[in-house]
Amino acid sequence: MIIFSGGTGTPKLLEGLCEVMPDEEITVVVNTAEDIWLSGNLVTPDIDTVLYLLSDRLDRSRWWGIKGDTYRTHKNLVEQGHNELMMLGDVDRATHIMRSDLMRSGMTLTEATMKLCDSFGIKVKVLPMSDDPVATIVNTIEGEIHFQDFWVGKRGEPEILGVYQQGIEKASISSSVLNALEDEDDVLIGPSNPVTSVGPIIELNGMRDILRDKNVISVSPIIGNEPVSGPAARLMASKGMEVSSFGVASYYSDFVDHMIVDERDTVEDKRFIEIDCTVSRADTLMLSVDVSIGLSERILERFLDI
Ligand code: GDP
Repeated sequence: MIIFSGGTGTPKLLEGLCEVMPDEEITVVVNTAEDIWLSGNLVTPDIDTVLYLLSDRLDRSRWWGIKGDTYRTHKNLVEQGHNELMMLGDVDRATHIMRSDLMRSGMTLTEATMKLCDSFGIKVKVLPMSDDPVATIVNTIEGEIHFQDFWVGKRGEPEILGVYQQGIEKASISSSVLNALEDEDDVLIGPSNPVTSVGPIIELNGMRDILRDKNVISVSPIIGNEPVSGPAARLMASKGMEVSSFGVASYYSDFVDHMIVDERDTVEDKRFIEIDCTVSRADTLMLSVDVSIGLSERILERFLDI
C-alpha cells in the first residue's frame, strides 16, 4: 500500500497500519513543501515525524521532534543573537546535519532519506514526494511568508489571504515514487491537511492522472466543520474550499474512490454521490493507537471492496 502523508494526522494512522500489515509492504510518500533550510541544514518536518515515529523515538505529545530531546544548541544560538525560526532539539539536529551533509556530497533528498532509514532500522519505505524544492507560501495581510514562518514564527496569527506552492510547476514526482506507484494499485490518502500536506503531493505534474487509475481511499482530516488540529480550516477557506469532509473529497474528486468519514460527522452520504465517491463511517479520532489499529483494519477491508 502507498500512503500519502503530512506530519501529524497520517503518521497517527501509520502507527496502526504498521500493526496490521508488514512494514515491508508499506510505502509512505511524504510532503516536502514544509521543508526549510535553517542554520545551515535542511529541516524536513513531515519526513522527520515519519522517521521518528517508525524508529520509535517520536515525541507523541507534540507529534514532532524526539522524545526527551534537549535544546542546548538552539538556546545557545538564540543567546548568541542567532534568530533560529524553529526550536530544534539537539538529537533532532543530528538528523538534519546528516541529511544535509549527504545532500552536500551529492545525494538527492530521496537517497539521503533512504540512508537515514537504514541507519534508524526502518523497514517501511519512506519517500519524499519530490527531489525538487517546493515551498508552501502563505499570503497574509503582512505579506507572503513561508508556511513555517506563518505557523511557527507567527503562531498562525496573521489573516490568510491565499496560499500556494512555490516551485510546484517545475517539480517532478521523484523517480522512486513513480516506480512505487507503478507497482502498487492501492493508495491511501491519510487524514492530513489537504492544502499544505496532501495538496503539494497531488499537484505535482502528472500525479492526478496516475491516481485516476488507482484504488484511492482517503480518510477525512475534518470532522463536521473543524479540523482535528492545525490551520486546515482557514487554509481551505482561503482556497474557496468547503471546510468539511465533503470539501476534502471534492478536492480529490477526480481520483478518490472511497472516503472514510468520522462516525461523529453529520455530513450526508448522498452529497458524495455527485462526485462519484462512496462513503463509510469509522472512529477516525486517533486518541490512542487502538483507534488507529481499528481504523487501519477498516481501511484494509475497504480496499478489498474496491
Ligand atoms: P502537518 O504536516 O503537521 O500539518 O500534519 P498533517 O497534514 O499530516 O495533519 C494535520 C491534519 O491532520 C489536520 O487537518 C487535522 O485535522 C488532521 N488530524 C490530526 N489528528 C487527526 C485524527 O486523529 N483524526 C483525523 N481524522 N484527523 C486528524
